[in-house]
Amino acid sequence: MKGIVWHGPERMSVEEVPEPAVVPGSVKVRPTATGICGSEVEGYLGKMGNRTPPLVMGHEFAGIVTEVGDGVDRDLIGRLVAVNPLYGDGTCRLCRAGYTNLCRDRHLVGIHSSGGFGEYTLAPAANVYPLPDGVEARTGALAEPLANGVHAARLGLANRAVENAVVIGAGTIGLMCLQAAVLDGIPKVHAVEPVAARREQALALGAGAVHESGAQAREALDETTEGLGADLVIDAVGAEATRRMAVEELLRPGGRVVYIGLHSDATTLGFHDIVRGQLDLQGSYAYTAEDYEQALEWLVDGKAGIGELPPVLPLEEGPDAFAELVRGPSARIKVFLAEPGK
Ligand SMILES: [Zn+2]
Repeated sequence: MKGIVWHGPERMSVEEVPEPAVVPGSVKVRPTATGICGSEVEGYLGKMGNRTPPLVMGHEFAGIVTEVGDGVDRDLIGRLVAVNPLYGDGTCRLCRAGYTNLCRDRHLVGIHSSGGFGEYTLAPAANVYPLPDGVEARTGALAEPLANGVHAARLGLANRAVENAVVIGAGTIGLMCLQAAVLDGIPKVHAVEPVAARREQALALGAGAVHESGAQAREALDETTEGLGADLVIDAVGAEATRRMAVEELLRPGGRVVYIGLHSDATTLGFHDIVRGQLDLQGSYAYTAEDYEQALEWLVDGKAGIGELPPVLPLEEGPDAFAELVRGPSARIKVFLAEPGK
């Protein structure tokens, strides 16, 4: 079968790769829409230690079930399904408590096994969700990035009331965090984003206000928070500058920041203000099955999305699409790839 193979920093080509064979409990899926994730663009550059070449990436996808392994309902064959690509070993203490995202033996299709940028891929049957008639594969493929947003928003909301929040970054993950925060009932969610087209998209998808910079957001917050700042900040970028912006510019004393963006690793933060401001620094990684199911429900119901869906490009255009995404943020929120159906 055909697959987009990543060979190392900025080296990628479309070539013949072995077709995966179903095992008991698994299904074979022919992806019909696979989104390129920001973490894969970083991975493409070789900046993500969890990806080892050669690798067919792709973890945001939906497609047609073409074959099922022993013990799996044969009625799934031919169904269009969204795929939750993440699963744990199912047995450890963290998995038993529902934290499959933190399992030390967690598996992500497209990182630990061949993913959605191939003609076929495998997933556990328990991780596939048939889409209702009329729901597009591209919509199903957005469940994975939205699940990340659901997870971040819910960590931000855990055990506290949040009147106002700021999401830093309005790329895909930022827009997903923003929508989850709005749908989970936060009355006013601001977005900080330097690219004008993305600010417009954030407004269209429910942001209460958008700002070009942290300073601008702070000015707006000062007016409505007695000069205190935001109850919650979600950093969907993960650069040193945005990590600092969250705690130094935006957060109120006693506020919480959820760090989900992974742009940079080492970051310097002044800790005196974190201690004296009693700030709550919370990391957010991936999502639980429950988050994924919530995300898919909102997408299927039309409550969340990315506006107009861009076309699905053939796998052949994958290497160029990655090279273009490396050049920096564009107005294009999501690129979908898939081998055209035969
Ligand atoms: Zn586990």
